[in-house]
Amino acid sequence: MFDPLPQVPDSNALELEVLARWERDRIFEQVRDGNRGGPTWSFVDGPVTANKTLAVHTAWGRTLKDVFQRYKALRGFDQRYQNGFDCQGLWIEVGVERELGLNSKREIEEFGLEEFARRCRDVVVWSSSELTRGSKRLGQWMDWGNDYFTFSDTNIEYIWRFLKLVHERGMLYVGHRSTEWCPRCGTSLSQHELTQSGVYQEKSDPSLYVRFPLLDHPGESVVVWTTTPWTLPANVAAAVHPDAEYGLRENGEWVAVARYPDERFERRVRGEQLVGLRYRGPFDDLGPGGSVDHRVVPWDEVSLEEGTGIVHIATGAGSEDFELGRELGLPVLTPVDEAGRFYDDYGWLHGQSTVEVADQIVGRLAETGFLVEAGVYEHRYPHCWRCDTPLIWRISDDWFIAVDAVREQLLEANATVQWVPAYMGKRMDDWLRNMGDWNISRRRYYGLPLPFYPCACGHLNVIGSKDELRERALEGFEQLEELRRPWIDRVPIACEACGERVERVVEVGDVWLDAGIVPFSTLGWENPEWVEHGYGTGAARGLTGADLPDHAYWEQWFPADWVSEMREQIRLWFYSQLFMSVVLVGRAPFRRVLGYEKMLDEHGREMHGSWGNMIDAEDAFKRMGADVMRWQYCAQPPDRDLLFGFGPAHEIKRRLLTLWHSIKFLVDYANIAGWKPDVRELDGGPDAERPLDRWLVARTHELVREATDAYEATLTVDVIRAFEAFVEDLSNWYIRRSRGRFWRDDAQAFRTLWYAIVQALRVVAPVMPFLADHLWANLVRGREASIFLARWPDVAEPDGALLAEIAEVRRVVELGRQARSAEGLKLRQPLRQLIVAGAPLAAAHTDEIADELRVKEVVFGDVEASELRVKPNLRVLGPKLGPALPEVRTALAEGRFEELDGGRFQVDGHVLGPEEVLVERIGMEGWAVASDGVVAVAVDTRLDDALRLEARLYDLIRAVQLLRKESGLEITDRIKLWIPDEELLQFAQRIADETLAVSVESGPELRIERA
Ligand SMILES: [Zn+2]
Ligand SMILES: [Zn+2]
Repeated sequence: MFDPLPQVPDSNALELEVLARWERDRIFEQVRDGNRGGPTWSFVDGPVTANKTLAVHTAWGRTLKDVFQRYKALRGFDQRYQNGFDCQGLWIEVGVERELGLNSKREIEEFGLEEFARRCRDVVVWSSSELTRGSKRLGQWMDWGNDYFTFSDTNIEYIWRFLKLVHERGMLYVGHRSTEWCPRCGTSLSQHELTQSGVYQEKSDPSLYVRFPLLDHPGESVVVWTTTPWTLPANVAAAVHPDAEYGLRENGEWVAVARYPDERFERRVRGEQLVGLRYRGPFDDLGPGGSVDHRVVPWDEVSLEEGTGIVHIATGAGSEDFELGRELGLPVLTPVDEAGRFYDDYGWLHGQSTVEVADQIVGRLAETGFLVEAGVYEHRYPHCWRCDTPLIWRISDDWFIAVDAVREQLLEANATVQWVPAYMGKRMDDWLRNMGDWNISRRRYYGLPLPFYPCACGHLNVIGSKDELRERALEGFEQLEELRRPWIDRVPIACEACGERVERVVEVGDVWLDAGIVPFSTLGWENPEWVEHGYGTGAARGLTGADLPDHAYWEQWFPADWVSEMREQIRLWFYSQLFMSVVLVGRAPFRRVLGYEKMLDEHGREMHGSWGNMIDAEDAFKRMGADVMRWQYCAQPPDRDLLFGFGPAHEIKRRLLTLWHSIKFLVDYANIAGWKPDVRELDGGPDAERPLDRWLVARTHELVREATDAYEATLTVDVIRAFEAFVEDLSNWYIRRSRGRFWRDDAQAFRTLWYAIVQALRVVAPVMPFLADHLWANLVRGREASIFLARWPDVAEPDGALLAEIAEVRRVVELGRQARSAEGLKLRQPLRQLIVAGAPLAAAHTDEIADELRVKEVVFGDVEASELRVKPNLRVLGPKLGPALPEVRTALAEGRFEELDGGRFQVDGHVLGPEEVLVERIGMEGWAVASDGVVAVAVDTRLDDALRLEARLYDLIRAVQLLRKESGLEITDRIKLWIPDEELLQFAQRIADETLAVSVESGPELRIERA
């Protein structure tokens, strides 16, 4: 006996029960043990930032990882299942600042860096346990408890070693340049941080036209345009395009002629003639501005697309300005400090932020006569990805890794990687070709301490390991809890060149160094000896039991066979890993990547906590279930955004009910019949005889083959497509056509259906592990305790000829239904004859066709239609024919066409394919015709009394079955039946057989009673 199934599964309860069983029976451990020593398939997990609970966004990636790891495990591969947590950087810091109500770096330092660091660690401890809990509930099989944490000393030491090597190769330098800067976070951002989603947002800013009066030409001025008023006090020059034409307006203002095409100019000159003119700066009354000799300068990059064609240059507040200043030797004014507030020497502006001063600056310009016009400007403007503050530009000294020396190698390494979808690999190429040097320093606290000790003697000391630090420390090494600020800042070293005492720089490292080193730090690269539980060092102490493996292990598992993250990671994790790997070992750290696009809500909007459309993973587990979430993720083509929500989940549940009902059908009838499967038949399949059974076995083999190909191509969407098509065939063809055999207790039917269902569950199990394993436990007893211990089913060659035959049968049946319904003939009305043309493969299955279409006879021959009407399929033909379409349409309407083979038509000099035309065949009197251009059928629509009587019989049987259902009878209950239509009593035996009636008698109305 199988356990009976309810009408609808309770996903949440079912999933919790399966989780408990996996845990109790140690299924995952058994799977791993079973594969140990097998061929390896190396997966490296991209770390998830440990500052939150599990989000449905994160669950997407986790699902894909789990699906392919489960698939590979079923195929016998020995794998690594190490999960990773990203534990440092501003995400964590900003959260703690909010929690503590701290608003600036000064407040953090007053709060105390030791306590701040401990609070940051607390967040990681809390979040890593939450993420673990959520991921387990999702069904992700990982080596939980042996995770890697990027804030471990081990991870940090590996990065130190990388940085030392970078320095030895001459790739490390301090860059003095203008960079995007977050005034709230008080740090610069790197180029790849600016590429993250959400950085560019719509913003409205002042739009100011400002005149700079020319000193040697009274009454004349140059006019510039700016959207950043705060940069005007730092103005040092006005740039013109040397080759552009400039004109003097009647009011004495110089502007580019191209920007004012309708203007009358008093004088026109080339830009180069303006170069060198001196002007009065807008804020010369403030110290720094007054010290500058303001002049008009030439610049080829001046745009004639916006503004006045004359550009305000503030070398200390814009990166292009800074570069131009370098070329021309212009002075640099840096107006604001790390927090974006004006320095003291800016008089009345001092202490105010760049945002606060905007209105005051506009007011002052109006007073002093500098303002020409003020308005509002809407544009896309960069914001800090962590705290949403609009960015400014500041000059700062940052640590950079030069890229040019390895750029070619990076491109070569990327060429060895197989990207899915392929365009993402091209995006990586574009990035590698165009990216600038890597800014690795951040002026923050909770991050990788950069091991740089620049000495006054000019020597840069770079420490490569904790041991080296111990050897060279002058003091403070013993108080070092972990390699982190503030403790590490108390460990000065002796300069290796001059022996003087040197302090560490205060900067911490870019978080992408933390994640990029993972393929080395977690796999034991160049580590001489295996250290058991050796990874959990520094801040990771007590959080993980992970080993620090030895170099032989790294040799075995590097590079990763497969990694997967969202597209955004091309410039982040995929990049930092690739970069570090190329520097360290000269090759790519992964062989194959699966990328995927963004997640939006079901209406296509971004999900935001404040918009109320964010879905909590816990809520999703309860209301849709992990299987349905996973299904939603897997059904998504990776090259398009996923619209995730409860609406789509509901639709998936509805579709999955077809599968559930098919299985329930098997279970119910098998239990009635007392039928039990022979579980050995899973290996070879049942020896089917009937064509329909043989077809289902072939169809099952085809599913296994399609699913295998899809998993191998890492395209879950194709697994789902194949599976859904299979369930449709199983339910709407095999079961529907075989119902009677199950009532009659036909063992062959049971064996075939059971085999097909179990094999289908096996191939969908990686996607939907809970339902699949739950049903496996019920349907397959006496084999492996879990579907995941049963290995991948054999990929047998499907019987292609048979599949093609039935595909053609189904086409004929579909057309037959169309023809009937066009004449308003319901399917319960038997008809005399069907003629089929163009479907030779279907000829072996005339009985099935006759039965499906309820016709007495099926004949293969010519379908003669008295009239053939052909219309253009506008959607297809419009684009193809263009202006020729009306003539073709007219020719078709007037019958000026010739029918060719293969459903093609010759018309007006064009040959139209079957998909380009809509064909309607008007049958001869008394016949209904339907055709898809290749196959054509005609049904005889003429009825006689015998056919009408038989239709009444079918109507009656149908009515009794409905009545049985409504009365809540079990499918095996016998009934007594009374029918009002006495003429049908002649079919009493047939009625009794079909409705499980023990008696059929005449009565005033249709009535049943349990016998
Ligand atoms: Zn910020
Ligand atoms: Zn020195």
